[in-house]
Amino acid sequence: MISENLSEVKNNIKKACEKVGRDVKEVTLIAVSKTKPASDIEVAYENDIRNFGENKVQEIGDKYPVLPKDIKWHLIGHLQTNKVKYIIDKVHLIHSVDSVHLAEQIEKEAVKRNVDMDILIQVNVAEEDTKFGLKTEETINIIKEISKFPHVHIKGLMTIAPFTDVAEENRIYFRNLKVLSDEISELNIPNVEMKELSMGMTGDYEVAVEEGATLVRVGTAIFGNRNYNK
Ligand SMILES: *Cc1c(COP(=O)(O)O)cnc(C)c1O
Repeated sequence: MISENLSEVKNNIKKACEKVGRDVKEVTLIAVSKTKPASDIEVAYENDIRNFGENKVQEIGDKYPVLPKDIKWHLIGHLQTNKVKYIIDKVHLIHSVDSVHLAEQIEKEAVKRNVDMDILIQVNVAEEDTKFGLKTEETINIIKEISKFPHVHIKGLMTIAPFTDVAEENRIYFRNLKVLSDEISELNIPNVEMKELSMGMTGDYEVAVEEGATLVRVGTAIFGNRNYNK
């Protein structure tokens, strides 16, 4: 099942790229494996997936030691400052940085371990009360603050669009994130790159790709529905 699902998702990404004249190599599929067992991840790995997304520090801690070392782990969920130390040497990219305070903690832990950490800034472009992330209008000032931490490198923006059955409804949010990213790019802030746009999930990744996503985070369409109660 996972193999077939992956072919379908990859094919949909390819079609979305063709529709707008993008090179499919610009888009990386992150398989969101939260709540799923290591055996599911191994199947995706055998199908050439190397980027996996998790939203809990604990789960990365459990899966990291038992899975191949060339996997790139993406922390996509809200990160508490006191947990940074558990993932700093394990993850490839933290997608969910939304405060100077959190970035400062990442800086401290990065110095301790003598590593550099790539991050994305999470923006709540749709301004949903229930979601983490910065407001669009405060993003530039906070990026300027975070850019001063020498071991923390901003690589782009991330958003979680509203849950909807109609993917087209989210197009405006993806488009707005891209506009913000271009705006920040033009400021040429030292230690800030705007090369990644992490947007699009099972319900709307094709639309996100059409609007410029470079990282799509897809779980359900690959691994099936999640069971949070076990
Ligand atoms: C769970 C999750 C996803 C994947 O969601 P699906 O709808 O299953 O594709 C993507 N991004 C974040 C931040 C998530 O928490």
